[in-house]
Amino acid sequence: MKQGQAKHKICRRIGYCIWNMPNCPTVKGRARTYAAGLQGKNAHRKKLTAYGEMMLEKQKLRAHYALTESQLRAAYLYAKRIEGKTNEIMMQRIETRLDSIVYHAGFAPTIFAAKQFVSHRHILVDGKIVDRASYIVKPGQVISINAEKSPKIAEIAKAVTAEAPAYFEVDKEQLKIKLVSLPTIDAIPFSVESMRVVEYYAR
Ligand SMILES: [Zn+2]
Repeated sequence: MKQGQAKHKICRRIGYCIWNMPNCPTVKGRARTYAAGLQGKNAHRKKLTAYGEMMLEKQKLRAHYALTESQLRAAYLYAKRIEGKTNEIMMQRIETRLDSIVYHAGFAPTIFAAKQFVSHRHILVDGKIVDRASYIVKPGQVISINAEKSPKIAEIAKAVTAEAPAYFEVDKEQLKIKLVSLPTIDAIPFSVESMRVVEYYAR
C-alpha cells in the first residue's frame, strides 16, 4: 500500500493522476484538492523557472510510460537523428513500445501491469512471444494474447474498459491489437508538452 502511494508522488505535485488511476491520492482528496487546487496550482506554476517547466514535463512523460531516464533519453536521441518534428517522432517512438501499446490499447489496467504481461511472456507479436517491453511495434503488426495459454491475463485484458485511440484496431473477443498507423501527437491519450521535453534534452 505504502509503495503504491509513493508511486503517485508526481500526481500530488501536478494535482491529478498521471495514469488516471482511481486509487490515486489526488482522486481521494478531490473536493479539497480542487478547491485549493486552481489557485494553488497557478501560483505554483508561476514559480517554476523555464528549466523547472522542462523538467516537470520530462518527469510527467517518464512517469506516465514508466520509463527509466536512459530509456527516455534514448527515445529523444533516436528522434533527433530522424528527419521531421523531433517531439512527434520521440512520442511515436515511446507510444509504439510494446508495453505502451498493451496499456493504451486497453489490454492492461496500468502501464505496470502491461510491462509485467510482456516480461512474463503473455504477449505475442505476429504470433510469436516477445518478452521485451521496449520492443518497437511497426504499423501493420498484430499484438495478441493466447487465451488458452494465458487465461488469467486474457480475463484481465477483457475487463479493461478504457477506449483505444483510432490508430489501433482492437478486437477484444479475439484479444488482438493491430497498430494501424503511427500516432499523431494529438491522438495519443496522454497530455504532455513534448516540446519542453525535447528542449530539456537539447540543453
Ligand atoms: Zn496518481
